[in-house]
Amino acid sequence: MNPSPKELFSRYVMPSYAPGLTLVRGAGVSVWDDAGKEYLDFMAGIAVCNTGHCHPAVVEAIRKQAGVLMHCSNLFYNELQPRLAKKISEIGLGGKVFFCNSGAEANEALFKLARKWGSAAGKYEIVTMKNSFHGRTLATMTATGQTKYQKGFEPLMPGFVYAEFNNLDSVKAAITPATVAVLCEAVQGEGGIVPATPEFMAGLRALCDEKKILLFFDEVQTGIGRTGQWFGFQNYGIRPDGFSMAKALAGGFPIGAAAVAPALSDVFQPGNHASTFGGNPLACAAALATLETIEKESLLENAVKMGALFTDGLRKLAAKHACIASVRGIGLMIGAVLNVPAKPIEAKLRENGLLCIATGDHVLRFVPPLVVSAAQIQQALDILDHSL
Ligand SMILES: *Cc1c(COP(=O)(O)O)cnc(C)c1O
Repeated sequence: MNPSPKELFSRYVMPSYAPGLTLVRGAGVSVWDDAGKEYLDFMAGIAVCNTGHCHPAVVEAIRKQAGVLMHCSNLFYNELQPRLAKKISEIGLGGKVFFCNSGAEANEALFKLARKWGSAAGKYEIVTMKNSFHGRTLATMTATGQTKYQKGFEPLMPGFVYAEFNNLDSVKAAITPATVAVLCEAVQGEGGIVPATPEFMAGLRALCDEKKILLFFDEVQTGIGRTGQWFGFQNYGIRPDGFSMAKALAGGFPIGAAAVAPALSDVFQPGNHASTFGGNPLACAAALATLETIEKESLLENAVKMGALFTDGLRKLAAKHACIASVRGIGLMIGAVLNVPAKPIEAKLRENGLLCIATGDHVLRFVPPLVVSAAQIQQALDILDHSL
C-alpha cells in the first residue's frame, strides 16, 4: 500500500507546519478532504482564494498560458507583466510596480526601496507596529512586531523599531533622525483582525508628510478586494507612498508585488533589485484573470454586502452565546473575539464542516472567498450556532 500524504510528510517534510486535513479538491467556497467530506471554506487558503477555489476564468487563463510561454526571464519583456503592472497602477497609486513571488518578498522590496531612497541622507530605520505580521524572512520577521516569531533566530536585522498600533504618539516617539519609513497594516490580520482607526491612519499620513518619511502599507492580506475596496487603505481616504501585495493577487497562484506612488517609481534602477520568477507570464496571466473576475462579478460590492450580513449574524450569535465577546473587521475580513480559547472551537467547527482560522489565542478569523453567497453565509452561521 502506498504511504499516506501524512506518513510521507512526517518522513520527508520539515515540520515547520502541523497540518490538519488532507484536501484533494476545491470549487468556489467548498473544499473536499480525502474521505470525500465537504467543507465550507471560510479561510480561503488564508485569504488567498478571493475568487473562490479553481475559478473557471483563472483556471482557463493558467491552462492557456502554460501551453504558450510559462516562464521568461526578466532579461526579456513578456506581454503580460506590463499589462498587470498597468492594472495594479490604475487601481492603486498610479506609479510603478515590482514583481516577486510572496508577501515577504514584496515587503523586502519596500524595505530595500526605502533604504535606497534614504541612503544619501543617512536614513534607514523603519518603524513597524507591535502585534503586526510581515513575513518569515530575516528582515520581515524582524519587522513583525511579535517576539514569538523571533525567538531563537537572533540576532535580528538592524534598522527596525516598533510602535504601538493605533497610537500616534507612540509612532511619533519611535521616529528618529534616521527614520526612513513607517510600515503598517490597515487591518492587522495575524494580529487578530484589528482594524486601524481612521484617526490613526489620517495621523500617520500627516506625520509622515511632516517628517518627510515614507508611509507604506502591508496589503498582503487586506488587498485584492478583501475589505470591500481593492486595497485596505482605500477604506480610509488616504494614500500611502507604497504598498505590498501577494496572497490573493493571482487567485491561488504564487505571486507578490510592491507598488509605489509616481515619486518613487524610478528609485530602483537596473541591477538594484531582482527576482528570477517575479512577474513571469504564467503568474501574470493568473493575476490578470483574477482582477478581471473581481470586476466582472462585482466582488468588491459583494464583499461589503456579505461582510455586513456575516457580521450581523455573528453579533446575533454573540447575544445568544456568551463565549463571543465581540465582532470586528472590515468587508470579508472578520474576527470573532472569544472569551474562551479559540483553538478547540476551530477544531469543532472543522468537524462540523466549516473551516476558519484561530489567530492569537482568542480570535476566530473568517476570510471567506469574495464569491460567497448569502445562503453560504447563513450555512456558516448555522454551523457556528450549533457548534457553540
Ligand atoms: C501572509 C502575510 C505576509 C507574508 O506573506 P508570504 O507570502 O507568506 O511571505 C505578510 N504580511 C501579511 C500582512 C500577511 O498576512
